[in-house]
Amino acid sequence: MSLGFPNQECVVAMNRVQFQKGMSLFELFEQFGTEAQCQAALEQARWPQGFCCPRCGSAAHYVLHGSVRKTFQCKDCRHQTSVIAGTLFESTKLPLPVWFLAIYLQDRPLRLGADA
Ligand SMILES: [Zn+2]
Repeated sequence: MSLGFPNQECVVAMNRVQFQKGMSLFELFEQFGTEAQCQAALEQARWPQGFCCPRCGSAAHYVLHGSVRKTFQCKDCRHQTSVIAGTLFESTKLPLPVWFLAIYLQDRPLRLGADA
């Protein structure tokens, strides 16, 4: 089903990924240490209400598990996308956990040694 206008919910910045306050590096690895965990988090950040097609706004979709990364195909217009399509994550070969670590460290500079 398409309502004929672009679905704004589909245009989501990846900065929606947020880590809980005071999260330790250990907890980060525990929760976002694998590609699958990171993908699930990005999926939630991108489509909080569930998948919607970036092209036609339809929620009807198939999930393709052919590659390492989960691919979504719209049932209405057959457009294929993934949680990282159109983001900086897509243009790199770095594993997602590495990106999550980078975001974590950017947000919370790693302090080595004693607090001065
Ligand atoms: Zn579509």
